[in-house]
Amino acid sequence: MPARSPRRSPPARKPKPKAKPRRAVKPTPAHVRAVFDGLAKLYPAPTCELDYRTPFELLCATILSAQCTDARVNLTTPELFRRWPDARALAHADVRDVEEVVRSTGFFRNKAKNLVGMARALVEHHGGEVPRTMEEMLELPGVARKTGNVVLGNAYGIASGIAVDTHVMRLTQLLGLTAHDEPIKIEQDLMQLLPREEWIASSHLLILHGRRVCDARKPACDRCTLAPVCPSADLRAGYGDAPPSRSSSSGSSRKKTSS
Ligand code: SF4
Repeated sequence: MPARSPRRSPPARKPKPKAKPRRAVKPTPAHVRAVFDGLAKLYPAPTCELDYRTPFELLCATILSAQCTDARVNLTTPELFRRWPDARALAHADVRDVEEVVRSTGFFRNKAKNLVGMARALVEHHGGEVPRTMEEMLELPGVARKTGNVVLGNAYGIASGIAVDTHVMRLTQLLGLTAHDEPIKIEQDLMQLLPREEWIASSHLLILHGRRVCDARKPACDRCTLAPVCPSADLRAGYGDAPPSRSSSSGSSRKKTSS
């Protein structure tokens, strides 16, 4: 009987290769400049597209703009502001009446509750006025950093940060400006890349480009003047089927970030 060969232990499994970083992003100052100079050429007068006349109105409109288009908010706010023109009036509103007025903006129960709660907080703690610091803004119901930045930046010209909505999240990743996909980290990255005097406009520029050209579902890379400096321009083939954005929130043009 032939001698049995010694049992061999099964070959050690190869360790799984580590997942590659999705894209190494180290934007150079020249790249950052090229992106924002290109955007500034496209949109020479970038502004907030929400309609408002006072800081209070902008705060209401921004709260309503969560997961809703600015166009829809602008159709809703004239009636809201007609019935409750300031914080004192809104603080005394019946939440159910506010719900009816803001119903078409989605998540209307929560938004109405936040609007009335915000107005009461303004009356109780700020004499009915919208405060001027991020710390105070963040104390208000329905207000997170994005809303704080939008209101402070546009109503008061105070650049305490950069408003990061779903367009800013998507475009900063596609344009190679950040390796992050959380709004707070993207905001910190942008604040380091840009001088403070550009913080307010930078958000508008990215949002406008996201609305006009770099659509979440179908970016128009073939007519995008940023294509020569955009590291994602070569992904346009089949882009609509497999978005390369790492943000799970990329989707329709409706805003999806926290308020
Ligand atoms: S080249 Fe394409 S992916 Fe890059 S910013 Fe323009 S539209 Fe967006």
